[in-house]
Amino acid sequence: MSIVTDAKRGIVTDEMKIVAAEEGVTEDFVRRGVAEGHIVIPVSPYRDVKICGIGEGLRTKVNASIGTSTDISDIDMEIEKARQAEIAGTDTLMELSTGGDFLDIRKRIIASTNLSVGSVPLYQAFIEAAIKDGAVVNMKEDDLFRITAEQAKLGTNFMAIHTGINWETVKRLRNQGRHGGLVSRGGAFMTAWMLHNEKENPLYSEFDYLIEIMKEHEVTLSMGNGMRAGAIHDATDRAQIQELIINAELADKATKQDVQVIVEGPGHVPIDEIAANVTLMKRVTNNKPFYMLGPIVTDIAPGYDDRVAAIGAAISSSCGADFICYVTPAEHLALPTPEEVFEGVISSRIAAHVGDMIKLKKRDADLEMGHARRELDWERQFNVAMNPKRARAIRDERMPADTDGCTMCGDYCALKIVNRYFKF
Ligand code: SF4
Repeated sequence: MSIVTDAKRGIVTDEMKIVAAEEGVTEDFVRRGVAEGHIVIPVSPYRDVKICGIGEGLRTKVNASIGTSTDISDIDMEIEKARQAEIAGTDTLMELSTGGDFLDIRKRIIASTNLSVGSVPLYQAFIEAAIKDGAVVNMKEDDLFRITAEQAKLGTNFMAIHTGINWETVKRLRNQGRHGGLVSRGGAFMTAWMLHNEKENPLYSEFDYLIEIMKEHEVTLSMGNGMRAGAIHDATDRAQIQELIINAELADKATKQDVQVIVEGPGHVPIDEIAANVTLMKRVTNNKPFYMLGPIVTDIAPGYDDRVAAIGAAISSSCGADFICYVTPAEHLALPTPEEVFEGVISSRIAAHVGDMIKLKKRDADLEMGHARRELDWERQFNVAMNPKRARAIRDERMPADTDGCTMCGDYCALKIVNRYFKF
């Protein structure tokens, strides 16, 4: 019996109680959200995890994706990335390794954290086919489902699965063209496989079987955005919308069968299209939790894409996105370092909070910071700060002679001057 089955029967589980207490909402609000498919709480029968609710009425959550590549495959470094992401305050991790020993990497990363961990099983299926059978297009359908079940048994809590790429989606991609091509690895692998083998995507045609696996191992299904644009000039195009419609139909089916489901959104969107994307997605999926990949709002700032994505994420979160995948400063350039992972999580957490200030009217911490600043209470300021260590280090490095103020205005500290005359 799944958490959705419990919710539909009116049972408030321990997980729902934890989410309600952490978010300051009622237990019945969470139960109803899970029953209706508006909230997910990724769990696993194989591993205890830190409970984290994602969806309507809850704080916007942040995911940090880590994992090896074929060029850089250092398990210790990936474990350090997981640690840095956790220190920076990520809510979940995705393990997306495409190089080295998949099983060993995934086992060690899962063992190193109590956060919910996500994966993309088709990476392993396609890459193993490339290694053993010479090309990704030689992937066997059975292997895809076998690997999905195997990854679930490792304690994976959610899986990005590219269900929405079918012949209709591919046709639209082919007919319209793209300025920035196809940048989703999963989308590229699956599209190439379909075209080479002249077969339908098994994740679409065998969706019922996929759902059985998800249900058996209580994995949350995160419907991948394989058609996501890699250039803002391709945002909200026909291929993206076609995939969204397919995923929305399948997502309803999953909820009916008591499987928790998230729907993934685009990654490159100009600011004036973000609200429309969130509204459209929420409308066609009947308010399923929306997982936004930023979005990146301009394509010309490589090296700063954590900030570029944070701008988009703040807007998408304020409009109703529930879950934000972080972007690191190394995006579009290289596999990130542990330091860049840390920076990416902090940028996304700031964005998620800025969004929640609008979406949930969550402004208590900002009020506390305003008061602490007015009163020149530095310890209180550090306590509220998103990254207290960094805030403290900057101040400590350039301490003023008079330690009440700071070296920005020195003797002419505006607050000190006015505080003599006003008691706010
Ligand atoms: S010195 Fe200037 S910046 Fe620093 S606390 Fe006073 S008013 Fe603020």
